[in-house]
Amino acid sequence: MAADFANLARDIDMINQSKADWLHLDVMDGVFVPNISFGFPVMEAVAKICKKPLDVHLMIADPGKFTEQVKALGAYMMNVHYEACPHLHRTIQQIHHAGMKAGVTLNPHTPVNVLEDIIQDVDMVLLMTVNPGFGGQKFIEHSIEKVKKLKALIKETSSHALIEVDGGVNEKTGKQLVEAGVDVLVAGSYIFGAQDPIANIMQLKAL
Ligand code: ZN
Repeated sequence: MAADFANLARDIDMINQSKADWLHLDVMDGVFVPNISFGFPVMEAVAKICKKPLDVHLMIADPGKFTEQVKALGAYMMNVHYEACPHLHRTIQQIHHAGMKAGVTLNPHTPVNVLEDIIQDVDMVLLMTVNPGFGGQKFIEHSIEKVKKLKALIKETSSHALIEVDGGVNEKTGKQLVEAGVDVLVAGSYIFGAQDPIANIMQLKAL
């Protein structure tokens, strides 16, 4: 979402050359979130040239409908929103059945305890640390407490889920988040808006 869409090949090449672990794709449909980003034709073009595993974050209504299309991209991880899935358990099963890792995402207002009965079935929990829809937003400070609560829930239930955060991540918030128990940092503007993106990726990797 934070890449230069007129120079996508250049930006993906930078990611390929970097120490980044994954490429995170923010899909927005203008229904579940108040913005539209890009869809499958763009992701197919990206998937062809990207050498990193794809972490697909669907900020869309009824995301389960697109499981096969996400799989066809060769995606490693498919993230769906708790708020967009009335039958979340079934959707997670579909994602696993398609051979992908399954992530569940929570908006800032959704408490972590709603995951009590699904946490053992997911590979990752993605906490939104800004309101989804736009890049470059300010980090919501309350997220640190939320990460700690999620970490405790994961421990309590012997779940193997990773904790990922998305929104307002930079060197400072990244450090606080890692200290609170985060496993995966998603960074947009901090990388693609930087003078030296490769160096900023290294900064986050060092946390
Ligand atoms: Zn995202």
